Amino acid sequence: MSLLIKDVLLNDVVTDVYIENKRIKQIAPHLSVQAEQVIDGRRKAIIPGFVNAHTHAAMTLFRGFGDDMPLMPWLEEKIWPNEAKLTREDIYWGTKLACLEMIKSGTTTFFDMYHKFHATADAVEEMGLRGLLSGVCFDHFQPELAEKCKRYNEQLVMEMDGYSKRIQYAVGPHAIYTVSGELLQWIHAFSNEHSVPVHLHLAETEGEVQNSIKQFGLSPVRYLYKLGVLSPRLVIAHGIYVDDDEIRMLADYNVKVVHNPASNMKLASGFQFKFCEMRNAGITVALGTDGCSSSNNLDMVEAMKLASLLGKVWRKNPEAIPADEIFRAATEAGASAIGLKAGRIAEGYLADICLIDLNIPAFTPNHNFISNLVYAANGSCVDTVICDGKVLMQNKKVPGEEEIMERTAEIAYNLINR
Ligand SMILES: [Zn+2]
Repeated sequence: MSLLIKDVLLNDVVTDVYIENKRIKQIAPHLSVQAEQVIDGRRKAIIPGFVNAHTHAAMTLFRGFGDDMPLMPWLEEKIWPNEAKLTREDIYWGTKLACLEMIKSGTTTFFDMYHKFHATADAVEEMGLRGLLSGVCFDHFQPELAEKCKRYNEQLVMEMDGYSKRIQYAVGPHAIYTVSGELLQWIHAFSNEHSVPVHLHLAETEGEVQNSIKQFGLSPVRYLYKLGVLSPRLVIAHGIYVDDDEIRMLADYNVKVVHNPASNMKLASGFQFKFCEMRNAGITVALGTDGCSSSNNLDMVEAMKLASLLGKVWRKNPEAIPADEIFRAATEAGASAIGLKAGRIAEGYLADICLIDLNIPAFTPNHNFISNLVYAANGSCVDTVICDGKVLMQNKKVPGEEEIMERTAEIAYNLINR
């Protein structure tokens, strides 16, 4: 499959971009190549597709359900009882809706953590995105549940050959308050053996830190250090409550961190995410939306704006987290955090691409494209999405979108009333 995008704006220069075998093959003006498909890039800018580095895709089903509550009562009263009722079909449709929403707002890769791995994988396979999907683990400190998690993940890792390369597997221990130290150590060794990422919520709330000190005698990062489970494969979501020594520990072990500004603000988990300190320590900081029940959308353009503004306001420093830096977090850093050669419009990189519609007020005037993208636009500025060299959306239309919305809404109402 080959694809030529003609006369598109890339870093203030009009150029052509040629895609072959799922990768960006050539970038230059007026390319004289024959391609199977040609896209007119005039009045459009080309950017890498966004990497949503932390979400729970099927939680689109709980969008707007149980808002305005603190984290633990929200989980215990609203989310967990309804999640217990979820069928494979519910999760499949919830994920399809998430994929639709991500495509429409320019995300081409997401790092997911949710129940019923195969339902999620089937939806991602059909929708054409790239998904790094976690085999979720909860043992609630019970040895028999830990054994169940181990067998589940051993099974999953063997089944990955049945999926296309767009679907990748990670281990997903939920959090230190739902997963025992023994299981975290097993997961660490398992991820090492199979070279797969580990996806963990960590240091998200003050309560989590207090409980960690009470239960384990240590704050969350120190606890992981003592367990010996910090590693370059570990990707932690949130990481709000970390001190300077803990930042150094994360940097020493090359742990990746995902900032989720919308969810952190909505659940009032905290706002002083140490983006600048982590970056200065050399940590790869990516960006995520978290699930739709705590964010309440999957719009990475909005997440960039929130992260940048939030980072400025708590420091009272308008120079903190400039637009180009948060754009990098949402693209290249996200891809690198999960080991993908993507997130840049450069030859040899994966053809995971968005074309941005410049013919809208948010890009008029266009003194600075990245500034407009981060501070003026939202996800609806995305016109065309290409993932793995294949067009998933053109002229802001995804094939079958009405059916996905209709069917998923039906399933979500049915789930709550079941
Ligand atoms: Zn989360």
